Amino acid sequence: MVDVLRIKDLIVEYTTQRGTARAVDRVSLTLGENRTLGLAGESGCGKSTLGRSLMKLVPYPGKIVSGDIILNIDHDITWKKGTIKKGDVSILELNDDQLRMIRGSEIAYIFQDPMTSLNPMLSIGKHFIQIQQAHDPTIEDEQALERAKEVLESLGILAERVDDYPHQFSGGMRQRVMIGLGLVLRPRLLIADEPTTSLDVIVEAQILEEMAELKEKFNLTMILITHNLGVLAQTADDVAIMYTGRLAELAPTEALFENPQHPYTEALLQSVPDVTKPDKKLAWIPGAPPDLVNPPDGCMFNPRCPFAMDICKQEEPPLIQSDTGGLVACHLYGRS
Ligand code: SF4
Repeated sequence: MVDVLRIKDLIVEYTTQRGTARAVDRVSLTLGENRTLGLAGESGCGKSTLGRSLMKLVPYPGKIVSGDIILNIDHDITWKKGTIKKGDVSILELNDDQLRMIRGSEIAYIFQDPMTSLNPMLSIGKHFIQIQQAHDPTIEDEQALERAKEVLESLGILAERVDDYPHQFSGGMRQRVMIGLGLVLRPRLLIADEPTTSLDVIVEAQILEEMAELKEKFNLTMILITHNLGVLAQTADDVAIMYTGRLAELAPTEALFENPQHPYTEALLQSVPDVTKPDKKLAWIPGAPPDLVNPPDGCMFNPRCPFAMDICKQEEPPLIQSDTGGLVACHLYGRS
């Protein structure tokens, strides 16, 4: 299996008036072709910053400090200013023109809020035309609209609605449009950032089902960013749990849900309601994530962890192989 994406020791920081906050801290992971990786964790754990880094779209005052992001491209990309040869490409070494060619066509990003991501002054069709013509100015409007209609229909939206404006669509339909815009250039890697957050559970289930079908149809590799573990249980092949910008645990989905290794993963799972156990008391994680400008020594989770030992307050746990076929960063493991 080809590795579509390799992230190596990535560090992303935000400079604030109080100091530097490290939002992504030495994250390394690999994503094979056709796989879906779920990225989960509390708000502020760095999952969206990590996702945006993959397109070099970290918002100011954030900055990718070091590391590498390698994307595998399966064909040459040629445009009037040059060619990007197929094979492994370092995203961080691409110039603005090259990035423009990669964004949308090789890596696409579905942003969290469809209402603010769509331009209220443009029809849905115009959004599709602009995206396609930005990558290929020779595409005529009519041709781009035909492709838009095809994509919209595959998402259950009538073709004639290309002439409508964003405010004429419901929340679920707008989210489908965003997914369509992400797919119209047939990217290899799709990053979906909380794609169903603002939707009710029925529409959420429909959209997740459609995304699973589209993944097969378009041969997609996906990163799904969410705080909703239930969504990942249904859709992801592997799940990475992030805490304070670091990987706490990474494991195949079934193993992670059945046998979580990291105390933080376990606590997150305990806090998910279970409809089959209506009497079960919901657990909660005491305290709050630490201040990233002044993080605690040792394991970042130690102030909230019921298993914290002396070493946890002094030494950061390394990420090691876990018994469930994944990786875990916790002093409870790997010590003789
Ligand atoms: Fe808890 Fe220590 Fe493991 Fe951190 S390293 S999760 S504090 S047991």
